Amino acid sequence: MKLTFYGAAGEVTGSKTLIEAGSRRILLDCGLIQGEGSDLRNRAPWAFDPKSLDAVIVTHAHLDHIGLLPRLVKDGYTGPVFTTEPTREISRFMWEDEAKVRDEDTEAGIEPLFDQEDIDTTYSLLRSSKYGESVRVVPGFDITFRDAGHVLGSAFVEMRVGGLTLVGSGDIGNDHVPILRDTEPMTKADAVILESTYGNRTHDGSEAGREDLLRQALIQTAERKAVLMIPAFSLERTQEILYELNGLVEGGAVPKMSVFLDSPLATSLLPIFKSHPECYDEQAKILRAMGDDFFSFPGLKITHNYRNSLAIDKVKSPKVIIAGSGMMSGGRIMRHLGRYLQDANNLLLVIGFQGQGTIGRQIVDGAESVMIDEHMVPVRAEVRQIESFSAHGDRDKLLRWLKSSGQAPGQVWLNHGEPEAAEALAQGIREGGEIEQVTVAAEGVTYEAAGE
Ligand SMILES: [Zn+2]
Repeated sequence: MKLTFYGAAGEVTGSKTLIEAGSRRILLDCGLIQGEGSDLRNRAPWAFDPKSLDAVIVTHAHLDHIGLLPRLVKDGYTGPVFTTEPTREISRFMWEDEAKVRDEDTEAGIEPLFDQEDIDTTYSLLRSSKYGESVRVVPGFDITFRDAGHVLGSAFVEMRVGGLTLVGSGDIGNDHVPILRDTEPMTKADAVILESTYGNRTHDGSEAGREDLLRQALIQTAERKAVLMIPAFSLERTQEILYELNGLVEGGAVPKMSVFLDSPLATSLLPIFKSHPECYDEQAKILRAMGDDFFSFPGLKITHNYRNSLAIDKVKSPKVIIAGSGMMSGGRIMRHLGRYLQDANNLLLVIGFQGQGTIGRQIVDGAESVMIDEHMVPVRAEVRQIESFSAHGDRDKLLRWLKSSGQAPGQVWLNHGEPEAAEALAQGIREGGEIEQVTVAAEGVTYEAAGE
């Protein structure tokens, strides 16, 4: 079996791994490259012929794993795309949101990466299966999705071919996050493709610490009559924050104040979260059984159009604004940052990974001012990071998970990490001494997985 990494090698976006088993060609994830200079790369000719693929498997609905699928279909792919049911349902919203962001291209006379017709065709190719179910992808190539605990519907995928088991981790979640179950243990595998986003970092705090930090931020916001801004990824982090706020507000642990959900994409995903209780952890199941709609609580206001979003300005502080994008690289949070970041009384809560080249990264790295909508805005608000809200497991989690089947795999390739993170994780795995071959995947290089 051969593996070639076309993306997410030395970076955290653009996951695409070509798996060649005999004459079969399977693509694992088909992600968009994000960040500075990505547009040209996303438009570059394919390194493989989309028509030559027999099947595509997707691990979860983040754009850096599914965002180029409509372009793959536009360019000739007509085969099946295997995934879980929540991922199937979420994908359409993610693509449509991305296409909307890219409407500017059409206005500027540039051909869009994909259009609504491509999205509709791609959606019709998605085939969903349940966690734990064995699915035949092509003769001699079977897969099983296991819960990765990263976002709703996320999976790591066991691929069985010719007596060899290869696991593709997709993205591995953090333990003890709200709503989702923890990552299922690794199954016995010969070879593993492992993400390394936090390969060099350990998250602060525990589950209790995280809720406490959020509670403190809300109490201080009320005391200072301040604005609390929470930039959040629309898929999962926003729903988790709502879940935590629901508990804090309904339990009387924080003063009453207005909480604005100003994220059209996150709002449109709420019904999907509500319709998949089979993916919930025990606590979320209990709350649901008690009749608590944990995406609704006193004070929560959902903006349904841009006029509603503008009207947030007129609401007196204290107030909380949850809006995308999570890395502060676009979306409705930008206007709020432009308005409120310069006031030392306000708070900015950073709860997710901030990629290189994003405004979020500049802020957490201590920039004194940042460029928003062509204006330099001084960063005077208090900036706090709660890493334990991160969607990704940290270094300890990744090292633990890799060995969780009780039998170390023979070969590991590390992808989906910035070079320092991937190298540090590789070092950590080598120090464990149990795994024969640990490789930091390089872009476009083909590797041989033992077992043919
Ligand atoms: Zn992800």
